[in-house]
Amino acid sequence: MRFNTKLLHGGFPADAHGATVPPIYQVSAFAHTSAEKLEKVFANKAPGFAYTRISNPTVAAFEKRMAALEGGVDAISCASGMAAVSMALLCMLQSGDEIIAGSGLFGGTLDLLDDLAAFGIRAVFLPEVTAENVAAAVTPSTKAVFAELIGNPKLDVVDIKAVAEVAGAHRIPLVIDSTTATPALVRPLAFGAHIVVHASSKYINGSGNAISGVIVDGGGFPWDFDKHPALAKYRQFGKLAFAARLRQDIWRNFGACLAPQSAYLNCIGLETLGLRMERLCQNAAMLAEALVAQPGITVNYPGLAANAYRPLIGSQMENGHGGAILTIRAGTKERAFALINALRYAHIATNIGDVRTLVIHPGSTIYAAAGEQRKRAAGVYDDLIRVSVGIEDIRDLREDFLAAVKKINEGGEQHGS
Ligand SMILES: *Cc1c(COP(=O)(O)O)cnc(C)c1O
Repeated sequence: MRFNTKLLHGGFPADAHGATVPPIYQVSAFAHTSAEKLEKVFANKAPGFAYTRISNPTVAAFEKRMAALEGGVDAISCASGMAAVSMALLCMLQSGDEIIAGSGLFGGTLDLLDDLAAFGIRAVFLPEVTAENVAAAVTPSTKAVFAELIGNPKLDVVDIKAVAEVAGAHRIPLVIDSTTATPALVRPLAFGAHIVVHASSKYINGSGNAISGVIVDGGGFPWDFDKHPALAKYRQFGKLAFAARLRQDIWRNFGACLAPQSAYLNCIGLETLGLRMERLCQNAAMLAEALVAQPGITVNYPGLAANAYRPLIGSQMENGHGGAILTIRAGTKERAFALINALRYAHIATNIGDVRTLVIHPGSTIYAAAGEQRKRAAGVYDDLIRVSVGIEDIRDLREDFLAAVKKINEGGEQHGS
């Protein structure tokens, strides 16, 4: 089954009543016919549901789809992308452990890694997550490598296979945040990554109508329980120890569950993921090409022919798509603001992955609290605009952005560099 068919017919369990989309089970608890039956359900010895923090049919429908689309053994959905990142890390780490991560991570994840310091978990940031940099940074305390497949907003691209090999050789799992790529562009597990996380609030949902996250376990990592004592209690599950501890312990006890209504909205969104990503990436590429020729601004988009990551995009991504995010440097903060304000169709909003085009000035919003050094490392500059390209007619988007660039170029000072 090809991807777009799988989105609709991926072998998901049929609804008892033949509902064509998963119904919303908007309940907290599920009643059973006997105490014995509930005892079995509680102990995972009989199929069924007990309590929505632990499992729910609508949530399970979303999770089954995500596991199938990423090619994993299990998917655990969370209340937000940040909850998914937090739960994935806390499930495998404990005090004294180190995590290697890219310095160009999503702002919320950078802040989370700071928060984890209070729990004795130290983050080591690399300028770029490459096999060489990871090999040089590994210590006996390193217990996880975390990278965003296409960094947001730095737009650096990870060579999954090369990094997974180095991490695996040190018995360290590679966790890939694949939010900006989605399984429509790449299945990181197939390239050797061990765990995938998504802020499914973004492209998976697609319409910006529910916050959620998901963790997919590839099920192939040979956990060494001396190296990862956090998982030792789940030793009997072998390669499934990570998913087992998440479901039975960390994720359940932190209460990171996804609401059934949000799971439902994600299931609807998933049906058009392939179509949307195709259109979004085409629009992004065409907009980037139109803007790259303009005076007074510079454009970063990994799909552009001259981009340093173009070869990795070509070898890893479906149809060589470079994602749907591009950034523009306008020369100064004032010019960046003027460009943003001159756009007719782009919403000024802090989100990505919507069907609508969204723009933001990361330096004064998402990274407002970050120091200069962290901003630089994350590729955030005072004149940087992030564009999450939507599915609008490309002719309208192109006209809109070109008119805005023209307006700021006629309005006075030119780009300094
Ligand atoms: C948005 C985002 C997150 C966090 O997701 P939320 O649903 O907002 O908590 C994590 N990683 C990346 C790459 C993101 O874009």
